[in-house]
Amino acid sequence: MKVREIEAKVLLAHVPQPDTYFGLRYNMNLYRGCQHRCIYCDSRSACYGIDGFDTEILVKVNALELLRKELARKRVKGVIGLGSMNDPFMPIEREWNLTGQALVMIAEFGFPVHIITKSDLVLKDLDTLRAISRTYASISFTLTTVDDTLAAKVEPLAPRPSARLAAMRVLADHGIQTGVTLMPVLPFIEDNEENITAVVEQAAAAGARYILPWMGMSLRDRQREYFYQQLEHLFPGLRQRYELTYGERYSCAVPHASRLYHFCETLCQQHGIVTRLPLYASPQPEQLRLL
Ligand code: SF4
Repeated sequence: MKVREIEAKVLLAHVPQPDTYFGLRYNMNLYRGCQHRCIYCDSRSACYGIDGFDTEILVKVNALELLRKELARKRVKGVIGLGSMNDPFMPIEREWNLTGQALVMIAEFGFPVHIITKSDLVLKDLDTLRAISRTYASISFTLTTVDDTLAAKVEPLAPRPSARLAAMRVLADHGIQTGVTLMPVLPFIEDNEENITAVVEQAAAAGARYILPWMGMSLRDRQREYFYQQLEHLFPGLRQRYELTYGERYSCAVPHASRLYHFCETLCQQHGIVTRLPLYASPQPEQLRLL
């Protein structure tokens, strides 16, 4: 993949509505494009305007300079989200370490973070994450399956689920809140009780505190077209089934979604796992006075 350096104008984007799901106040992307190339990735959608999503990575070379200025100006220490449009720990991070350096800065300014990743590379920043978690840090590993062979098809260049689970274990053992974003669940591929059971059981064994399920996927414009091309190649016959079931629909719940949600929730309860993210609670005035 080609790497291109760009200058960003702004780094921290405000999350306009109160986000009751991840509790985010700000969103941050240090790169554009993603090297993991998951076949279902929504970031390919035309609305995000990332042309060449599968061919080049843009590196925001002035990101750290911007971040320092923006953090210094923020009056509200809300949760900063990483990982919405790309994986902050994709391979290029080894070379550039933008995420690592940004986290050090976030720790310095005392902001809370929520990270979504598919990579065990997150462990390179273990010490920084431990420092941030004194305020609040939550690391969500996306697992759509724990079958490494299936993951190699649907998430071809991401670290395998077994590596993600091993990283989760390390974070949990160091007292860092971690869990699973079980999303998407691909219709006719991953929407079965065996898959959900395996994810919940292995996540529980790896120290997951929460699992956030979404029994379905989104499909639109060029992202749909890319996904369907991959289906033709990887799962012959499935494209037609998708087209018949979902047509032009954007939000595509798996068949029997409610039953599968209930199944997942019951299983999580049995393993002592919650299905809502334990959110950051900002310090109350009394606590602030004592600090
Ligand atoms: S890791 Fe996330 S952002 Fe990257 S390709 Fe996969 S789904 Fe898209």
